[in-house]
This record gives sequence, C-alpha cells and structure tokens, in this order.
Amino acid sequence: MGRLLIIGAGGVGSVVAQKCARAREVFSDIVLASRTREKCDRIAALCGSPVLTAQVDADDPAQVAALIREHESDLVVNVALPYQDLSIMDACLEAGAHYLDTANYEPRDEAKFCYKWQWDYQDRFARQGLMALLGCGFDPGATNLFFAHLRKHHFDRIDFVDIMDCNAGDHGLPFATNFNPEINIREVTAPGRYWEDGRWIETPPLSLHQPWDFPEVGEREMYLMYHEEMESLAINIPEVKRMRFWMTFSENYLTHLRVLENVGMTRIDPVHYNGIDIIPLQFLKALLPDPSSLADGYKGKTNIGCMIEGVKDGKPRKYYIYNVCDHAECFREVGAQAISYTTGVPAMIGALMMLTGEWRGKGVFNVEEFDPAPFMERLNRHGLPWTETFPE
Ligand code: NDP
Repeated sequence: MGRLLIIGAGGVGSVVAQKCARAREVFSDIVLASRTREKCDRIAALCGSPVLTAQVDADDPAQVAALIREHESDLVVNVALPYQDLSIMDACLEAGAHYLDTANYEPRDEAKFCYKWQWDYQDRFARQGLMALLGCGFDPGATNLFFAHLRKHHFDRIDFVDIMDCNAGDHGLPFATNFNPEINIREVTAPGRYWEDGRWIETPPLSLHQPWDFPEVGEREMYLMYHEEMESLAINIPEVKRMRFWMTFSENYLTHLRVLENVGMTRIDPVHYNGIDIIPLQFLKALLPDPSSLADGYKGKTNIGCMIEGVKDGKPRKYYIYNVCDHAECFREVGAQAISYTTGVPAMIGALMMLTGEWRGKGVFNVEEFDPAPFMERLNRHGLPWTETFPE
C-alpha cells in the first residue's frame, strides 16, 4: 500500500488516475496535480473513488516537494511533459519520494532524446534509498519488458531487433497528434538513428521506410525513427547486432507535417514577432487539437510490438510479440484513445510494482532491469493483452 501523487492531467494522466483509482488495495491515497486544476477535477470526477486534486507548476521543484510533503506521497508518477522530468526528480530527492515517468528528459531548446541527464541522478537516488523508474509507458516501457521477457524465456542470444509501432486509427480530423503535439513533432522531425555493430547510424528524418503486415490491422508503411528505448536496450542487450525502431504514418499525416516543416512551423527556436518572441512549435501546439479530445469517435486499432531474430539452444529462432489496442474500446472503458491508454496502463502497473515492492531498487532504473513476469501478467489483466508467435 502506498500514497501516490500523479502529475499531469492530459490524456495519459487521465488513464493513470482512473486505473489507479480502481486498485485501492495498492493506492491508498491518490492526488492528481497539474498546471490547470480544473482538468484534474474533471478527471477526478471520472475516477469512481476519491482522488484529491491540486494545482502545481512542475517546473518548480519547491512547489512539487511541498505537495509531496503535504500529502506524504510515497511515489510520484510524472505524466506531465519531458521538460519537467528533472525538476520532479529534484523534488522527489528533496522530499523523499520514489519517482516514475514515461518519457526521457528533454531540454526545451534542443531535441535530444537521451537518458544521460536522468542516469546522472543514479548516485543521488541510491544514497537516499529511493528508486526512480524511467520510461514506463508502452514504448518505452512495455516494449522494454517484452525484451526482458523474451530473453528470459525464448532466446540465448538476440541478434536483430525491430520495434514496430503502428497506429491504424482514424480520428476523423485532417491533422492531429496522438500525444502532446510538441513532443510528438519534435520526435518525428528528428533524424532517424539505428544501432548496428556497436554504433549508431544516422539517417535523414523518415527517409527509410518499408511495409509491414500488422496482425489485426493489415499492411501499413512504417518509417525508421530514433526512439529512446533503444538507448537503454543497446546497453542491456550488449550482443544485439542491429536494432531499429519503426512507426507508421499515413500519407495525409506526412503531407501535413512536410508543409508545416517547410513553412517553419515546427521550429523550436524563438522567432521575434510583433515585439515578442514566439516558438513556432509551441504556437502550433496551441492550434492543434488536444490529444485527449480525439478519443470520442476515434476508430481503429494500434499494434505495437517487437520482431526478434536470435538463437535458442543453438538453433536460429524468429519471434514476434505485440499488443493490439482498440481506440473505441479504450473510449468505452476510460474515455481515452488508445495512445493515452497504452501509455497510462503500463505507468499504472509500474507504480503498482514499486508500491507493492515487487520491483525494488535504490537508484535510477530502466524497466528491463526488473523481473518481467509480474508486469507481463498485469498487462494481460489490466487491458493490454499481448500475443507471441514464432514466425517461420
Ligand atoms: P498532454 O499534453 O495531453 O498532457 C500533459 C499534461 O502535463 C497537461 O495536463 C499539462 O497541463 C501538464 N503540464 C505541462 N507542463 C506542466 C507544468 N509545468 N506543471 C504541471 N503540469 C504541467 O500529454 P499526454 O498526456 O499525451 O502525454 C503525457 C506524457 O506521456 C508526455 O511526457 C509524453 O511524452 C508521454 N508519452 C509516453 C509514451 C510512451 O509510450 N512511453 C507515449 C505517449 C506519451 P495543461 O493541461 O495545463 O497544459
């Protein structure tokens, strides 16, 4: 049992809060705090058991630490934005709480997608006997656990890895992003990068692509991107010869993105306009739909999984593990679309692992460092069942 503080009241925060509120045997007290308190209140009303709400600016560690102390929180689940990761980690150290997030720290002025800043907190968390669990959404998150699982049960050696993230849903709008627009567009417009023979190979953004036939979804074109889980997996699966991450995009999405890029709307440097500095991508975010607002009427499915080639008992083996999630079913269950759902459920399970002590550690961890069994079992139980196959 433990006391939980959730920070961030967007699409993901709503799923985390609602799912935690159904597991009161673990989460004895839940506080949901965010920049805009009304959003927390709206989510709390959906939760079905008492959830307190608060206003907080998570860029200010002192405010977060005061909230942790006021509510005697044992664990902070950070589902605000990657910009807040370090300030919330600082607050956890100051007030003595464990920490969990779903996305690595990002400085506002540079799209870096790297864990270094957070891994640098290792000694400080370890010294205080606290645990920080990084990247516990779906990808990163569940995909990393897939590796811990398949390494434990199905492979002696992993040679080739393809992580494949497909959203075949249709929200009916001309252009929208499925999670925070600023973070999503920074990620998609960054150069691609994959791991081969012990080094990173960089490719121009979205320049490599190929079709893949996704179970329950059909064939979709997927594009090579850099994605943060590869950074920790390259360390934790040292023998891997090649590791790539792919995401599907529709032609429509790519055309809009290309135009926005070409006219400068995805820039993250300030532009002086009418006497003030404007960051074009932040302004674009203000124009685009709120990701959580896409949920009503969203049709279709996501399929996120990993295709692996390697060796077991001296014989070559292929293995494919994936989850399929239906947007409309997520909406019926928690009023969310599948991207928020597939991120929020693993965050809730990670929090549960920490508060029950099934995962325990002092320092900063990525999820694949823990026993995957209880997490994989909870994915099945809490709405994200997975399928494994051995293709010829
Ligand atoms: P949203 O933009 O919908 O929600 C973010 C929330 O954080 C908003 O409620 C926002 O407040 C709040 N927030 C922003 N800045 C602050 C601040 N300084 N202080 C307090 N609260 C703040 O994003 P999503 O819910 O879609 O995504 C949440 C996180 O999940 C992101 O970090 C994203 O990168 C991550 N993610 C991870 C995935 C994974 O699989 N690992 C997949 C998808 C997302 P306000 O409402 O006032 O703007």
